[in-house]
Amino acid sequence: MCCRLRLDLRELRRKSGAFFGSREGTGSVSVVAINTTCRRVHISQKKRKNFTTKTCPVCRIAQDLLAGPGRKITDVQRNKNLQKRKAEIMFDIGIVGGGTAGMTAAIYGQRAGKRTVIIEGGNFGGQITSSPNVENYPGIASVSGSEFSMNLLDQAMKLGTETVVEKVTGIRDEGGIKVIETTGKEYPCRSVILATGVTHRHLGVPGEEKLTGAGVSYCATCDGAFFRGRDVAVIGGGSTALQDAEFLSNYCKKVYLVHRRDEFRGEESIVRRLREKENVEFVLSATVNEILGDTVVEGVSLNNKKTGEDFRLDVAGVFIAVGQIPQNEQFAETVKLDGAGFILASEDCMTSHPGIFAAGDCRTKEVRQLTTAAADGAVAALAACRYVAEH
Ligand code: NAP
Repeated sequence: MCCRLRLDLRELRRKSGAFFGSREGTGSVSVVAINTTCRRVHISQKKRKNFTTKTCPVCRIAQDLLAGPGRKITDVQRNKNLQKRKAEIMFDIGIVGGGTAGMTAAIYGQRAGKRTVIIEGGNFGGQITSSPNVENYPGIASVSGSEFSMNLLDQAMKLGTETVVEKVTGIRDEGGIKVIETTGKEYPCRSVILATGVTHRHLGVPGEEKLTGAGVSYCATCDGAFFRGRDVAVIGGGSTALQDAEFLSNYCKKVYLVHRRDEFRGEESIVRRLREKENVEFVLSATVNEILGDTVVEGVSLNNKKTGEDFRLDVAGVFIAVGQIPQNEQFAETVKLDGAGFILASEDCMTSHPGIFAAGDCRTKEVRQLTTAAADGAVAALAACRYVAEH
């Protein structure tokens, strides 16, 4: 619930602990209110009116804000505020996301002598922790995804990286200082690297949501062992689906690999290995109609795209591996996103906002791989170091 407060400058600063100054290009601002839900300071440039209606960009609640006394922040005051805030800054580089890109960035940041924090909303490691076996990282013939990511975290922490487990809700820029907002706190930083990765795409078919955790899974390495000796289906044709099918074939009686085309997107070498497995069957040019079962998965209803016929596979588990989607909505007001929600940034990892960089799968790019995530982490960290040195 947003509150409406009439506050003067000093009171506002005391209540919010927030710094505020003029917006770019404006000589003065009128403080109008602070939203106590999201702790965002609202400012208005409509000095002559008593009310202004604004939708809070964090909690999305439209509200009538009472106009305050309309005090001007002079240039002197503004500079004082800025200096004070700069003195309070804790971190040179704030990294949002603790996957491969984020942790690599932390290693590079710490080695360059920068105070670095990684803020992770869930588990450190990111997507690769679900990979049973990584075989395409240069110099490492074979390693499990979880071992790879734990080594990375260990390396980053031994170098002095600070870690926080909190969900990041947004970033705001206060006179060049980037404040990372989380559900509980705020982290002022000189630069920010967004390395939020991607999340599992859902099929969106009947039964999927209801039976998630009751036979429907998005992580074969996490849940595969529950299906020992049973029949399962893996949906998808990318590297994740292929790896999942291979992993599950070690536990399950039968693995159906269901793909909507008759060519795989994933690595050919895994496809070759799967063809040789007796308990793996390819079900190609087939789409999923529905996941069947009342309380647990009992089967999956499919459609043969070539003949148009529906058919059923009796399986106890359905592993969905149909790609990933970005989750960058909370940054949409700070950095530009493309139509699919990826952060617009090229190989230099620069976003539309100076001092904020994007690394790994969360940014627009052609190749989303472990190696490219690590490469981005290094590029973004070095760019952030340069930015910090120059500002
Ligand atoms: P992906 O490469 O995007 O593949 C997604 C697959 O799901 C595609 O085969 C796609 O079919 C299919 N699909 C998408 N939407 C679907 C729907 N609604 N219904 C049915 N099928 C659907 O995703 P990924 O396999 O998760 O891999 C993501 C990235 O991580 C890739 O770059 C991959 O190479 C990389 N990766 C690397 C490793 C490693 O060990 N280094 C491991 C896993 C993944 P179409 O082919 O018809 O589009």
